Amino acid sequence: MAVLKIENVSKIFQGGTTAVDDLSLEVSDGELVCLLGPSGSGKSTLLRMVGGFERPTQGKIFIDEADITDQWPERRPTAMVFQSHALWSHMNVFKNVAFGLRLRGLPAAEIRQNVEGVLEMVGLAGYGKRMIHQLSGGQQQRVALARSLVLEPKILLLDEPFASLDQHLRERLREEVRDIQQRLKITTLFVTHGQDEALSMADRIVVMRDGRTEQIGRPDAVYRKP
Ligand code: ADP
Ligand code: ADP
Repeated sequence: MAVLKIENVSKIFQGGTTAVDDLSLEVSDGELVCLLGPSGSGKSTLLRMVGGFERPTQGKIFIDEADITDQWPERRPTAMVFQSHALWSHMNVFKNVAFGLRLRGLPAAEIRQNVEGVLEMVGLAGYGKRMIHQLSGGQQQRVALARSLVLEPKILLLDEPFASLDQHLRERLREEVRDIQQRLKITTLFVTHGQDEALSMADRIVVMRDGRTEQIGRPDAVYRKP
């Protein structure tokens, strides 16, 4: 069952760059799909269109059959983790993660319970009162992940979330994310330009080039090619 349907989507920026070129893709419920490809191949732009941060020049995007092409990011059942974490450094960890639930008007007790639950899931139990600037880069990305997960999105969007971290930490977080993703069965689009990252995480890999899908397949199929 396709949860996400991208239908003939293009993005042409002002100035004429075609970032995404008539691209179609379906993602099944619970699947983790890695978007892989060289810098400038349109991965981020595609992700940002699914999240609602860019508007397609052409084409439509559906989530659970509903056309969300023109919906505001806050109204979509998506949550995005950016490459640089974009956390509020003047707020503590708890408040950063709770923010979206506050906007939704959840009762305080429920917010506390949900926030503590996701902090534990990302390995930050007991860190609620820490300020963001007191955390390491890896811990900050964990907070960013927690902030997305707590919204219980239908689709999780990750844009090279570990790019700024060292190799060792990247591998660890990658495993943890895969773990959480499988536990929650959350449909995920993961942008990377790292082949090992894609190979070790993905149910399917979409190789992009010049705004198009060059290959789509399971990791073993994509990499058996000469
Ligand atoms: P990737 O994520 O694969 O590195 P991007 O989606 O960031 O690729 O970029 C695809 C192409 O679109 C590139 O040529 C990039 O320079 C261009 N691009 C991305 N964002 C913008 C923008 N806001 N305005 C103009 N061009 C852009
Ligand atoms: P990435 O690391 O994903 O390739 P970039 O460093 O290319 O990202 O882009 C960072 C930001 O700048 C993004 O918000 C992107 O939309 C924007 N951007 C990228 N290329 C251009 C461009 N040619 N003109 C205007 N904005 C751009």
